[in-house]
Amino acid sequence: MSNYKHFLDTVFYNIVINEVIERRKCRATGKVRFNGVAEATFFIHWLKWRIRKWLEKPVRRKHRNKGFGEKTGTPRYVYHCEFCEGYHITKEYPYDYQLKKEKYNREYF
Ligand SMILES: [Zn+2]
Repeated sequence: MSNYKHFLDTVFYNIVINEVIERRKCRATGKVRFNGVAEATFFIHWLKWRIRKWLEKPVRRKHRNKGFGEKTGTPRYVYHCEFCEGYHITKEYPYDYQLKKEKYNREYF
């Protein structure tokens, strides 16, 4: 397990995330758009890793509640966007999101 962790550290430290993942904005949602599930999933892992590393730095600890302001355990989900044909990350469970959207459509259209 520690080998795996070390492997992740090595991989993520050497990554320039903007070179690995081409991030564009989705016009419909204003969210960052990923080309595929793999890219979005990778970005979630990278984000969690970065937040964890950031929290480990003692000098940053007093700013813990600022900046990211999120716990590393915040689950994120990848879902397909029908507007831009790309993929987005959401903190809402996609099934709930879908239900809400359907409810909205029923009530207002
Ligand atoms: Zn979109």
